[in-house]
Amino acid sequence: MGYIADTSQFEKLFSYWKEEYEIWAPRRFQGGGRFSDTDAVRYARVDSPSEIEFEEKSAYSWKETVFPPSETLFYFSQNHVEEAEAPAKKRLVFLRSCDLAAVRRMDQIYLKNGDPDYYYARKRDGLAFVLIGCPHTCENGFCVSMGTNASDNYDMSVDVTDGAYYIDCPQEDWSRKLEELGAAPAEHKPSRVTENKVSVRIPDNLTYEVGKSTMWNQYDKRCINCGRCNFVCPTCTCFTMQDMYYDADGKVGERRRVQASCMVDGYTDVAGGASYRKKNGQRMRFKTLHKVLDFRERFGYQMCVGCGRCDDICPEYISFSHIINHLEEGMKEAQADDNSK
Ligand code: SF4
Ligand code: SF4
Repeated sequence: MGYIADTSQFEKLFSYWKEEYEIWAPRRFQGGGRFSDTDAVRYARVDSPSEIEFEEKSAYSWKETVFPPSETLFYFSQNHVEEAEAPAKKRLVFLRSCDLAAVRRMDQIYLKNGDPDYYYARKRDGLAFVLIGCPHTCENGFCVSMGTNASDNYDMSVDVTDGAYYIDCPQEDWSRKLEELGAAPAEHKPSRVTENKVSVRIPDNLTYEVGKSTMWNQYDKRCINCGRCNFVCPTCTCFTMQDMYYDADGKVGERRRVQASCMVDGYTDVAGGASYRKKNGQRMRFKTLHKVLDFRERFGYQMCVGCGRCDDICPEYISFSHIINHLEEGMKEAQADDNSK
């Protein structure tokens, strides 16, 4: 069912939600951005609709609501282990279409790739999603090329225009609540982008052979292996473990899992002092082919959702969409090299 709610009705719906949910949404942090005079928009708990950033895409993604940068799994002492408490409430997440597509990728890895991940599953179980419509494209996103510009698997969608909330609400309890609050019935489907400023084409003949191309070498120097592209990516799921000791003997403490990055030093270190991808170009090749080739080969759909956050955040202005668009040339180069042998 579709509705138009005014600010007061939407605030009341919000209060109703808060009885059952913790609400997470993109939120503006003034002065917290990349440069001293810029703001940061990132996911955080919100207490009222006025705290939600409906216009600007968040620099960091929805995944922080279920997969935070650092999460305590359990506490230990010499003879005792105690699991960290699960969040007290279910979570309701406001997110855009690309991020809703990324939920499927996270679920694929954490729930359907072998046994479900216990810590992810206990948060994921109670998640509800409110889709924020996208009336215009963001700067670096290429969701149209990746087919993630439209979603219908939301509990509710909302477009905000001049203080009016245009809603599509398949969730029946919420729909009843909106009617009780006096929201005006009106058919509405979430706005979506039909054209981005950036488009990509993943070559049909893409294979791992492209790894032989010289296209990766430029990143040996250009990339400073900071890992920011991974940390903002809504589909990067890698983590590592850290034990934090409270005592000098290392017998009391907590175990945390922290987000990891395939671009940073140490990621491919193995026992015996070896390391598999030492050069930044090799790491870029690995990341790129994971996003647009091997995930698809394994699960049947692309991992990258085209949100463009990796381009937005890179301090070296490296563009992932440019890399994708160079794959065709890279394939030609690798195949020409093979044929000349
Ligand atoms: S954000 Fe840019 S510089 Fe940092 S690791 Fe990623 S590609 Fe390299
Ligand atoms: S690789 Fe870049 S564009 Fe693709 S989902 Fe990750 S952050 Fe978004």
